[in-house]
Amino acid sequence: PVRVRFAPSPTGPLHIGGVRTALFNYLFAKKHGGTFYLRIEDTDQNRFVPGAEAYIFEALEWLGISPSETVGKNEKFGPYRQSERKEMYREYADRLVELGHAYYAFDSAESLDNLRKSAEANGNTFIYNHSVRDVLDNSLALTATQTKERLENGAEYVIRFKIPEGETLILTDLIRGEIKFDTNLLDDKVLFKSDGMPTYHLANIVDDHLMETSHVIRGEEWLPSLPLHALLYKSFGWQAPEFAHLPLILKPIGNGKLSKRDGDKMGFPVFPLEWKTAEGISSGYRENGYFPEAVVNFLALLGWNDGTEKELFTLDELAQSFDLERVHKAGAKFNPDKNKWFNHQYLVGKPDSELAEYYLEILSEKGISISPEKAERIVSLIKDRAHFVSEFWELSDYLFVAPETFEEGAAKKWNDQSAEIMSQLFQLLENAPGFDASALETYVKDWAAANGIGIGKIMQPLRVSLVGSMKGIHLYDILELIGKDESIRRIKYAIA
Ligand code: GLU
Repeated sequence: PVRVRFAPSPTGPLHIGGVRTALFNYLFAKKHGGTFYLRIEDTDQNRFVPGAEAYIFEALEWLGISPSETVGKNEKFGPYRQSERKEMYREYADRLVELGHAYYAFDSAESLDNLRKSAEANGNTFIYNHSVRDVLDNSLALTATQTKERLENGAEYVIRFKIPEGETLILTDLIRGEIKFDTNLLDDKVLFKSDGMPTYHLANIVDDHLMETSHVIRGEEWLPSLPLHALLYKSFGWQAPEFAHLPLILKPIGNGKLSKRDGDKMGFPVFPLEWKTAEGISSGYRENGYFPEAVVNFLALLGWNDGTEKELFTLDELAQSFDLERVHKAGAKFNPDKNKWFNHQYLVGKPDSELAEYYLEILSEKGISISPEKAERIVSLIKDRAHFVSEFWELSDYLFVAPETFEEGAAKKWNDQSAEIMSQLFQLLENAPGFDASALETYVKDWAAANGIGIGKIMQPLRVSLVGSMKGIHLYDILELIGKDESIRRIKYAIA
């Protein structure tokens, strides 16, 4: 059965790239009738950030892609927090030592740092592997008795994986196909530390095995870990899951990975939810007025499509059509303008009654109260121009607040005849038999035709009078919505 996981480390707010990883796992599980679970990888105590774990759950919940097994929920394979599984990793590290796949190393941080620096000075990278293992301070270079003594004396150590020498690993990634790795370029990575904590690599493999993970779907930044992980599975004698590494999410402009700085510079969020710390606030999609469906939709298309031109997908549709075969290898450019377009699509797709509720809330903050019917009518007229509900006010403020000044561009539309035409018009409006938009339209047009006045000569100064600028919805709708008295008042004000 398909069992996939999202395995974030709670070291800060979940980046949009992490959310995309969670989403693809969620979709893959749904598509194959499998399970999507979430494991908290918190073995690195130094990087622990309070609130980060709660943030992860809240973000997934907001997007509607919560895991079905995790901390506090369906704990079949629990605990789902690695810090609570601490004891069991030791046993696996020991097993690898016994099998000869891992060894103790006592090198101090300084001595490793020096080796690294002198290698760099010679234009090389220091790799802790067979080439230097024998001369460094570890159980492969020491005698068994020496090692034993060190351990008994409480020397600080780490357990390192013994990367085999001179092998070419041919591994399969479901997105990238076969990839070759030369083991001579791999480090003997640390698996376990004397503080009793496993590193990411050991804990991740042990848990993916124990939690019966069928597919590991994660970001491309983990691809370099693939050979080590494959070797770990082999050393334990376990069957490895299938692997799929998702393409990077790239900056909107230029090259390279999308970063928080790109968002700050260009004014778009890179986090699903707002994140507040003493240093400041990082803005979030939710707080910026994005609908969760829109975020899910644009994330799904970062590195995937269904093979057609289709761009709008509900979560259910995504779960139907998603598959790893259609995930691209190349990085996916993040496009903040397109993301707004997605939000607009979801906004106009919502029933006016729902949009009216948001609108009434905005109005009530301004101390304005109107009927739900009127709110629906207005949102139906303005929504085509809105990317976000929050724009409803600026798209309709003139319906509630009479202009006091006239924008420059609008003032230009007011010519010598305008005052005269407007004074005729308000008298006409005073006598209007009805004040609904379509009746008014016929009424004004008939009058204009009968008097040989071009309709443009009426409409432009009328818009100036009612709105104060050239923006706004259809003028007859404005007349109807603000009503006869207010319309006449505004026209008189403009004339004066
Ligand atoms: N804890 C790792 C992370 O923070 C998980 C990587 C993986 O999925 O293997 O992304």
